[in-house]
Amino acid sequence: MGKTSRISGFHKLTVEERLKIVSEFAGLSDDEAALLKKRGHLDIQTADRMIENVIGTFELPLGIAANMIINGKEYLIPMAVEESSVVAGVTNAARIARSGGGFFTSNTGPLMIAQIQAVDVKDPFGAKLRLYEKKDEILRIANEQDPILVKIGGGAKNIEVRVIETAFGQMVIVHLIVDTRDAMGANAVNTMAETLAPYVGEWTGGRVYLRILSNLADRRLVRARVRVKKEEFKGAEDVLEGMIYAWAFADADPYRAATHNKGIMNGISAMVIATGNDFRAIEAGAHAYASRTGRYRSLTHWEKDQNGDLIGTIEVPMAVGLVGGATKMHPISGVVIKILGVKTATELGEIIGAVGLCQNLAALRALAAEGIQKGHMSLHAKNIAVSAGATGDLIDVIAKRMVEEGTIRMDRAQELLKELKKG
Ligand code: NAD
Repeated sequence: MGKTSRISGFHKLTVEERLKIVSEFAGLSDDEAALLKKRGHLDIQTADRMIENVIGTFELPLGIAANMIINGKEYLIPMAVEESSVVAGVTNAARIARSGGGFFTSNTGPLMIAQIQAVDVKDPFGAKLRLYEKKDEILRIANEQDPILVKIGGGAKNIEVRVIETAFGQMVIVHLIVDTRDAMGANAVNTMAETLAPYVGEWTGGRVYLRILSNLADRRLVRARVRVKKEEFKGAEDVLEGMIYAWAFADADPYRAATHNKGIMNGISAMVIATGNDFRAIEAGAHAYASRTGRYRSLTHWEKDQNGDLIGTIEVPMAVGLVGGATKMHPISGVVIKILGVKTATELGEIIGAVGLCQNLAALRALAAEGIQKGHMSLHAKNIAVSAGATGDLIDVIAKRMVEEGTIRMDRAQELLKELKKG
């Protein structure tokens, strides 16, 4: 009989039983199965409670970017990422930002939006006003769902009602604005929205379908700015000019903006992952926010001030938490938060925003100067050596040779490996 992926009750099996099935299905060798059985800092019982159908855990390197000053305070920045040169980029750019005082940040508060969708409403504009009249009742019902949040000063604070045009006619969309304090807040606001749904159905006279948060968290923005003194570009003034032209290119052209913003997310996502937060939520929010004018644009802005110093700014949604979700479950996240020394989710969000801007500073500087490949490929040479099959000391020897030769390619790594193994 051929193999099948239809496995009844897979979720009810133990981790070991699941691994046995996967090993047979994929023909894993004993060594490969043993690799999946190897345990790191995330114990398997916790992992098995975090997601479904667990067979092991997956590790990423955790690096520290040095040199960061934010609001006059020194920070070491933990970053979990698989890509070389991300941590180095932040470290270098944070160093050149120090002479201008580092990064300065602010935020709009931890406000999340939950959406409730009502369709087939006969009088959508009348319904909209009826809902506004029920605002106090809506907030009361929502807040009854989360007494902890209310006790610490959070909870549902406001509503907004929109009538939108869709492929299936007008819909009434209720936005519940919730202060989620130190939580990312997805579960918190979803519970509120689900409880409110039948009431919204009754008050609009329509049918209610979706009731879930919006990842376009545009009420939960963080802002960061940086000034890089022109002296940092002494003898390379054209680099500073080139950086501003590079930004203008990104802001005008979505093809470039996608790569520009991806670079920003290198820093943001690495911190979001290290703190046990939901990186898909942050990425969806960032890219949606970058499109808010109707065109996909840069999340940052770069210009020169009257002294000729370089001024960079970023504004980005940042729905991260210190409690809730996996933030308290992943053992490393707690240590990462201690390294950062943050006490609130908004402080964490501001740091992440500043790191996004710092990463962009690094990338634009490299692009406007020697190009990205020089720095990137030197660091990447080791990865290529590993991919070519090098192990142990041979990784460094091959990487070094390729950098010296200026040929950092898989075929060259393979040649060198053959040569060195013979010798
Ligand atoms: P949660 O429900 O685990 O924790 C939040 C709760 O913790 C609050 O409701 C509150 O009752 C309590 N709390 C205790 N101390 C608090 C404090 N100081 N500040 C705030 N709340 C405090 O988690 P959550 O943050 O509501 O949801 C996050 C999770 O939801 C993540 O795992 C995310 O991946 C997931 N999620 C995301 C989406 C999405 O992004 N579209 C959708 C569904 C779920």
